[in-house]
Amino acid sequence: MTDSLALPAHDWPQMQPGWVWLCGAGPGDPGLLTLHALNALRQADVVIYDALVQEAILDWAPQADHIYAGKRGGKPSAKQRDISLHLIDLARAGKKVLRLKGGDPFVFGRGGEEAQTLVQHDIPVRIIPGISAGIGGLAYAGIPVTHRDVNQSVTFVTGHDQSGDVTSSLDWKAIAAGSQVIVIYMGMKHIARIAAELLAAGRPSKEPVAVVTTATTAQQQVLETTLGTIVDDIAAAGLEPPAIICVGRSVLMRQVLDWQGQAAGQAPRNLDPLGRGRPAESA
Ligand code: SAH
Repeated sequence: MTDSLALPAHDWPQMQPGWVWLCGAGPGDPGLLTLHALNALRQADVVIYDALVQEAILDWAPQADHIYAGKRGGKPSAKQRDISLHLIDLARAGKKVLRLKGGDPFVFGRGGEEAQTLVQHDIPVRIIPGISAGIGGLAYAGIPVTHRDVNQSVTFVTGHDQSGDVTSSLDWKAIAAGSQVIVIYMGMKHIARIAAELLAAGRPSKEPVAVVTTATTAQQQVLETTLGTIVDDIAAAGLEPPAIICVGRSVLMRQVLDWQGQAAGQAPRNLDPLGRGRPAESA
């Protein structure tokens, strides 16, 4: 089916042997790939992909070898260093290498480390950004990551660091005090601790929170809850990672912007969930 989606006329870059293109695959829905990603899939000799990359996307590179470099079925993840060395070997063997990562390669994806290692080994790289789950995944849930009446800033945080622990370098008090909307990646494992930190730092227990799992895929689930009830509600709903957790009043916008629910015939729950009492577009 490779030819069913022709790239529009454009001066598309050609992959050269010995190069590695480090590319975001978006959050899941194959339609959220960029055209540069599609152009790369068409040309690659080998695609090295992570667990969060939807396998359907690989069908668009039938000519390429597909190498899985992620964590699945409880097996330990391939070591970052091993992945980087593998990329170097393939590039040195003269392959056109496409390194495909979920979301955006430079957002909590270790893309910077991989690219740095490649450059240190004289391997030329190209970076292709992707739609990050913390933006695109929320949009599929009907949650605008910024909204004029809610937030003039947004903070993206990771729920655990390299050791797998709650990120010790994060100052949760400062985040709680300074971030109107907090978007948490990799937050499921330590959600009890994270919620407790935010509550202790003064965020209200009634503050709206959304948990969006496997966002933008057919399996997407959205839980609307609050900071005070999130732990019990995640357990009751049986939600599993991968999930984006959004803390803040922008979550309320889902009451009017759950466009997928509306497409399935549900009426908007509330046309003015922030209680502005005036047309949304007025100044
Ligand atoms: N580079 C990726 C993030 C990698 S970190 C990006 O830009 O999106 C992995 C974390 O991303 C997951 O634990 C989860 O928090 C989030 N994530 C990635 N894809 C997701 C999806 N489809 N649905 C929900 N969360 C997702």
